[in-house]
This record gives sequence, structure tokens and C-alpha cells, in this order.
Amino acid sequence: MKIAVLPGDGIGPEIVAEAVKVLGALDLQFEMESAPVGGAAYAAAGHPLPESTLKIAREADAILFGAVGDWKYDTLARALRPEQAILGLRKALGLFANFRPAICYEQLVDASSLKPELVAGLDILIIRELTGDIYFGQPRGRRTAEDGHFPGAEEAFDTMRYSRPEIERIARVAFEAARKRSKRVTSVDKANVLETFQLWKDVVTQVHQEYPDVQLDHMYVDNAAMQLVKAPKSFDVIVTGNMFGDILSDEASMLTGSIGMLPSASLNDKKQGLYEPSHGSAPDIAGKGVANPLATILSAAMMLRFSLNQPEAADRIEAAVKAVLAQGLRTPDIHSAGTTKVGTAQMGDAVVNALR
Ligand code: NAD
Repeated sequence: MKIAVLPGDGIGPEIVAEAVKVLGALDLQFEMESAPVGGAAYAAAGHPLPESTLKIAREADAILFGAVGDWKYDTLARALRPEQAILGLRKALGLFANFRPAICYEQLVDASSLKPELVAGLDILIIRELTGDIYFGQPRGRRTAEDGHFPGAEEAFDTMRYSRPEIERIARVAFEAARKRSKRVTSVDKANVLETFQLWKDVVTQVHQEYPDVQLDHMYVDNAAMQLVKAPKSFDVIVTGNMFGDILSDEASMLTGSIGMLPSASLNDKKQGLYEPSHGSAPDIAGKGVANPLATILSAAMMLRFSLNQPEAADRIEAAVKAVLAQGLRTPDIHSAGTTKVGTAQMGDAVVNALR
């Protein structure tokens, strides 16, 4: 089992070190190779995703990724900014399926901005298509308008597009994932207005015929955004396009109240994946030893389950995380009265102890 370890910037190295510690406490053999990425790689090699880092990532079964980005790189040309490393990896490895679970842990129910009864026991999975849609569609650009409401004015435009095979493969990922859960998929679209999402809806409905044991519902994205805050537990697996998924997955993550707890996975058709916390590099707390490493540790658990075929080890890590929360241990971001405040390394050590 070959893992590329890309810690990145800000709190990235601190939180990845804890995930590596936890992996090392399992009775499994991994071959791990580290490489710089993001701002760290720009500083070392002049590019956020150097060829040498990309090679290590390509040859691995899975990539354990910290986070990239720092305000000091904000003035660089867009192609050299740290965040381009993630886009580059997605593209180079064809990582088209993004998994973002939103789980509200019993002990953290008060951290949510919603009423506890709405989020207690919440466990939903958002599957976002990651390589198509309006974020990548061509043509795009700026020009002088020839028609429309203001001919002669400056205008900008993007292209929303999906092909049938792109929709088929993400639909299959969602139905397969639902089979391992409570067998319900909600496909989110805007078929009432957009041609792209009428095709989306038609194709998802057709692929569903291969999965008669899974229940499929369709929902417009505006309603889905509303239902996520009204009755989030009514969902199980949500599948949607790149832009709607971007927005809905952030909305769903906030239901749990704690960005430091949320893992994510991006997979290609060979089950090779990039595993990273849902949060960024948090430069405001970098180097202080206070970052919450649990999202990264839970990302390592997803890596074991989805890319390394070690579901029992994944279950063990997730159980250990629940155990440390039950012990009352909290990093500052999830700390509340009556619990014990710990730092990044102490939290990692506690997970290792709970594993044993
Ligand atoms: P952020 O997620 O880094 O931080 C938002 C807030 O959450 C901050 O107050 C931060 O201290 C806190 N936070 C985040 N993770 C935490 C953790 N594990 N423990 C405790 N607190 C945590 O978002 P931002 O401030 O908007 O962005 C900072 C940098 O990260 C930017 O350069 C941005 O481009 C980059 N970014 C990278 C990724 C990625 O690598 N995938 C994702 C988002 C943002």
C-alpha cells in the first residue's frame, strides 16, 4: 500500500503528522513517501505542483493531503498560486468523484448553528462531480457584448456542460455508495431551467434502472439548499454537479458546526484517491500546535476504506475518534465548558491510545 504524503502549507504539516502517527499505530505495512506541495513547493522548487511531486502522487495508491495556501502567495500569478496544486492533481489523476460526509457527532451536537434535535445523529454523504460543469466548460472569457440587454458593454461568460458518460459514472458512484448505506440517493439538479441538468436528470434516472434496490429522488438545488437546513436528516446520499456540490457540501459541513472534523475523498475510476480535510491551511493558527487534526485522521480512515481496501482499519480509526470525543478531549475549535482542551499532538496521541 503506497501512500504519497503531501503536507502542504499552514497547519498542513501539523495535522498530517498526526494522521501518519495514527496510520503507524495500525498493524499494517505502508510505503509512504513525502513531497512538498502548494506554497511549500513553490518556495522549494518554483511551482506549486512540481513534476517530482506529481510523479510520487501518480505512482501511489492514495494521496494523504494536508492543505495548501497562504496569504503571502496571494500576489503570485494565478498559475503559481498554491491552490493550483489541488486542481492540477485532480486533473492529472482524473479525480472526478468527491465524497464529503457530514456527520454530527453526538458529543458536538451543541456546536451546530441548528437546533440539536435537527442535527443529532446526522450522517449524510454528498457526492460531487469534480471535473466537469461550469467550472471547466469551454468557451469562457470576457468580451464586448454584441447583443443582450447592454450591447457594446463589457461582459463575461462561462459554459455549463456535462456529457452523458460523465453523468453516468458519477451516478454509478452514488448508487454504489448508497448500497453500503441506507440505499437512498437524492439527485440534485436544476432541470426546470437548465438543459445541462435536464440531461443530468434523464441520465441519472436511466442509470438507476441498474440499481433497483436503491431509492432515487430528484430535487431542485434551491429546494435542496432549503431542506438541508430544515430537515437535514431526511437525506442519505446526495449526488450533484460540480458547482451545486461545491455550495451544498459547504452548507452541509456547517450543519455539524466544526470544520476541523470533516474529511473528504476525491477518487478516480481506478479507486486511486486524494484524501484531505475539508478545511484550508488556517494560516491564522499555523505553528501554534492548536489545529484540530481529526478531519485529517478521518480522511486517513476514508483512504483505508476506499483506496486501500482496509475497511476494518477504517472502522477502528473512526471508533477511536468517537472514543476520544467521549473522553471529553477537545482542540480549541470544538472546546466547550466541561471538556478538556488539548493541542494537535495530544489529540493525535489520544487517538493512538484509543486505537490500542
Ligand atoms: P480555512 O479553512 O483555512 O480557515 C477558516 C477558519 O477555520 C480559520 O479561522 C481557521 O483557523 C479555522 N480552521 C480551519 N481548519 C481548522 C482546524 N483543523 N482546526 C482548527 N481551526 C481550523 O479557510 P481560509 O482562512 O478561508 O483559507 C486559508 C487558506 O487556505 C487560503 O490560502 C485558502 O486559499 C486555503 N484553502 C485551501 C484549501 C485546501 O487546501 N483544500 C481549502 C480551502 C482554503
